[in-house]
Amino acid sequence: MSVEANLNAVVSTLPPHVVLVAVSKTHPNQSIMEAYDQGQRVFGENKVQELTNKAESLPSDIKWHMIGHLQSNKVKYIVPFVDLIHGVDSLKLLTAIDKEAAKINRCIDVLLQVHIAQEESKFGFSPDELADVLSGNPMAGLPNVRIRGLMGMATFTDDLRQVRCEFAGLKQLFDKLKISFFADCHYFDTLSMGMSDDYLLAIEEGSTMVRVGSSIFGHRDYGQTL
Ligand SMILES: *Cc1c(COP(=O)(O)O)cnc(C)c1O
Repeated sequence: MSVEANLNAVVSTLPPHVVLVAVSKTHPNQSIMEAYDQGQRVFGENKVQELTNKAESLPSDIKWHMIGHLQSNKVKYIVPFVDLIHGVDSLKLLTAIDKEAAKINRCIDVLLQVHIAQEESKFGFSPDELADVLSGNPMAGLPNVRIRGLMGMATFTDDLRQVRCEFAGLKQLFDKLKISFFADCHYFDTLSMGMSDDYLLAIEEGSTMVRVGSSIFGHRDYGQTL
């Protein structure tokens, strides 16, 4: 199947309120352009170097989302052009983004990553930690970042009941935080959850943004250098 056919198949399953992030990591510019030519404009990458390389050489109306783990010292490389940073998992990182964004007079949209999976290795705030951080009202001192919502990844498992349960938990947390901390913020509207294997489930549980890679671009070959 071609990127074109795959993309159209995914798009045809999405309700209109759900944003599709086409996750193009490890895939060449040519594949991105195949999706671009079908009208796709939102692309996700998980490595700073790859993201900046692609952004420099591809059309400027692409909205680039950073979906991977981001180190504070690399924030400066993506702040000039990035559209949304999904994986903000510490107050330190949030502060670093604000600082770099202030230097160039931008306001950067971010999502706070929540640890919902059972696996140890995934990054993110625990729900309690997040409520704690937000109680300190960090937004007041960080005018150059705008918290648009939450992002989470389910456990890598065939147990769909568990995956559904984790997504439902994240949606509950989203609703709770919205009431407690973002009641007057029309922009707190984004819940990024769902990947190739589970995005339909995620949408059923309230996702507004799905990050789909292999279902569009095919399998990733990590052995290849870019
Ligand atoms: C790679 C990646 C995806 C896409 O995964 P697929 O299973 O290929 O759809 C989504 N989210 C994050 C954070 C990723 O790193």
